[in-house]
Amino acid sequence: MGTDRNATLTAMKRRQGDAHGKTPTADGGRRIPDTPVIAVIEGDGIGPDIWAAARLVLDAAVSTVYGDSRRIQWVEVLAGEKAYKETGEWLSKETLEVIRDHGVAIKGPLTTPVGKGIRSLNVALRRRLGLYACIRPIRHIPGVPSPMRHPERVNIVVFRENTEDVYAGIEWEAKSRGARTVIAFLRDTMSVDVDRDSAIGIKPMSRGASRRLVARAIQYALDHHLASVTLMHKGNIMKYTEGAFMKWGYEVAQELFGDDVVVESDQGAADEPKLPADKVIIKDRMADMMFQQVLLRPESYHVIATPNLNGDYLSDALAAQVGGLGMAPGANMGDNCAVFEATHGTAPKYAGKDKANPVSLILSGAMMLEHLGWPEAALVVEQAIQKTIADGLVTHDLARQMPGVREVKCSEFAERLVERLR
Ligand code: NAP
Repeated sequence: MGTDRNATLTAMKRRQGDAHGKTPTADGGRRIPDTPVIAVIEGDGIGPDIWAAARLVLDAAVSTVYGDSRRIQWVEVLAGEKAYKETGEWLSKETLEVIRDHGVAIKGPLTTPVGKGIRSLNVALRRRLGLYACIRPIRHIPGVPSPMRHPERVNIVVFRENTEDVYAGIEWEAKSRGARTVIAFLRDTMSVDVDRDSAIGIKPMSRGASRRLVARAIQYALDHHLASVTLMHKGNIMKYTEGAFMKWGYEVAQELFGDDVVVESDQGAADEPKLPADKVIIKDRMADMMFQQVLLRPESYHVIATPNLNGDYLSDALAAQVGGLGMAPGANMGDNCAVFEATHGTAPKYAGKDKANPVSLILSGAMMLEHLGWPEAALVVEQAIQKTIADGLVTHDLARQMPGVREVKCSEFAERLVERLR
């Protein structure tokens, strides 16, 4: 391994941390074997195409770096349309048990069944497996077209709460019995005037789930030597939910991380106050202002911790800043289980056409390799993606924005990438 490569690896270990560090690991603290079993949900629509590409790349990366000494044993579990066709169930108990048993899974996108059965498979999966943190690292890959003048300044990890807020799914249709009952209660008991024909949604946010998410984000920043954690909220309007998220965030920062953190507002009123370099700065920003900030001064933000709906909007907007959802990886993590997934949907118009961009799923696989404690394999994957794109070999979605490149199919992109793994 050359000096440059060692330096990059060290930097990457610093950036991404050590899977055996303080952050809870997928195996709940057990040693990860050299041949771990990983559950795979292939996904619907473009899922089979991008999974075939990702598997080729991930297996080749592990073999390139570790030879025969390490290997992943993939085990397919059913969810989504394939599961429904074969078993009549969208998401079975067995699938959840296999993922729980092995602690790590990777998944392609799943169709949300419209008007039947389960409300959203992705939400169900996250809630039932206790995957309370949706983690999206957003960084620019050189050469990828971006609407930003300086996309390289974006290097932000979003921690989005994954179990409450709108994901709790408490809603009643206008004029339904549920809506009428809640409205009557609000009018008669709480003296709150709500139009009788309103639809009703309830947004629960608890102290426990908010603290758990913020604590995980701060631990991540500490483990990865990142400068700040920003609590993004809309607490000026929703004081007792969003505002409380911020309050509980500061509270857990002080209680659990005491000497390792400083609060930005305690450091004086200057626009760029002098902050201690060896501590994580905890700050907060209103959600609307946050969207401006990540466009105008993205380099001031490192980790952002936020409730569910804010995080949903922000992570897609940030992904667009570095080239779109086809390029952005993601993971949903709990304390004992982690599911790595493409951040885009099933893109039905490209299903079966071998045309989709597999980078989101491949990079999610790289996150998974780091999580397993195999950062060298993750690094060669990231570097090979960069080389393939730099050599002008890209899938349709990028080719239409990049003059002078060669458009390749999803499968060929993976093959060319494997050639660049060394
Ligand atoms: P989508 O599947 O993400 O696709 C929207 C558009 O984004 C596509 O038409 C395509 O744009 C582009 N795109 C997305 N992924 C791409 C890729 N890998 N390569 C190239 N282009 C890509 O969003 P949607 O149409 O709103 O949702 C379709 C289904 O997916 C729905 O059932 C939805 O519920 C589900 N979904 C699942 C997940 C998940 O499983 N995590 C997430 C989101 C949505 P162009 O048309 O411009 O080429």
